[in-house]
Amino acid sequence: MMMIKRAAIYPVTLPLVRPFQTSYGCINQRELLLLELKDELGNVGYGEVSAFDYPDYTEETIVTVEQVLIKYLLPLLKDVAFSHPEKVRDRFRSIQGNDMAKAAVEMAVWDLYGKRVGQSLHTLIGGTKETVNVGVSIGIEQDLETLVQQIKEYVSQGYQRVKLKIRPGYDLEPIRAIRHAFPALQLMADANSAYRASDIPLLKKLDAYHLAMIEQPFGARDFVTHSLLQKQMMTTVCLDEAIRSLDDVKTARALDSARAINVKISRVGGLTNALEIVDFCVEHQLLVWCGGMLSSGIGRAADLALSSMDAFTFPGDVSASNRYFLKDIIVTEFVLEQGQMTVPKGNGLGVTLSLIHI
Ligand code: MG
Repeated sequence: MMMIKRAAIYPVTLPLVRPFQTSYGCINQRELLLLELKDELGNVGYGEVSAFDYPDYTEETIVTVEQVLIKYLLPLLKDVAFSHPEKVRDRFRSIQGNDMAKAAVEMAVWDLYGKRVGQSLHTLIGGTKETVNVGVSIGIEQDLETLVQQIKEYVSQGYQRVKLKIRPGYDLEPIRAIRHAFPALQLMADANSAYRASDIPLLKKLDAYHLAMIEQPFGARDFVTHSLLQKQMMTTVCLDEAIRSLDDVKTARALDSARAINVKISRVGGLTNALEIVDFCVEHQLLVWCGGMLSSGIGRAADLALSSMDAFTFPGDVSASNRYFLKDIIVTEFVLEQGQMTVPKGNGLGVTLSLIHI
């Protein structure tokens, strides 16, 4: 039985190597929080708060998460004996929503638990692969020549799949330009909820470019319009913002709103929920793949462990540290080798924090 004795929250700011523009807006630096938990034996575990500093992707922000952690979640864990990280979810059952706050705590507990029992997260969750195929997510870049140049660079680095952020007025043209320059590239588009039902005829034109999928064109709760699109489009529709729980995946399946699910540990309230979603997707032939949150090396380590499971065949948004950051917060940064990244083998998350950052 383990017991949490102490918790600390550290703010981290990571400047981005280049601004990242989506249909929500543009960010120049990644602000996040790190949660540090200590158990009764003195082991330390880390969890990453993936919320952004503005409530556009989901309603949570680093400000709300910090409050919820301090006021509600951490007091529920302190001095309580529990046997396994999965039990964290049960402790938090009385609290609605706040999935990213819950996920950060659970991640720190998984890290702590792995260190206590001397096993990597990848082993604990039944991951089988030692390396995983990865892709890259590209922000909106108005100048199409620069865009194609950027992609050329990532492709030469070995990224196996490119995801382009799109929005109304920036969709068919950049996709056509990329497809023209890279006829065989595994390419997809992510709209971050920027379209409406009246845009269905326009979105259907994307079928001509053989995209691997189109991600979340409509609102975060709009399973119905996604279903209308999927029924009329050859291209696979993928849901991101819509998926906050296993129940949402069941809704998507029942309505045929999507054939692919982008799973993010933080958005679904933690790894335990993510694993249930993966099982459901495998059982019901939905393609499941691992999304990204511009995570630091802490969140990225968890994403790599998840991606090491057999179910993950489609390259995730789990890029190398230098895709986003000049310097990551972990000692040994994640690098890309022949289009793959290595899953950490050390105990827990398997990464060591570089202390100069906190
Ligand atoms: Mg997305």
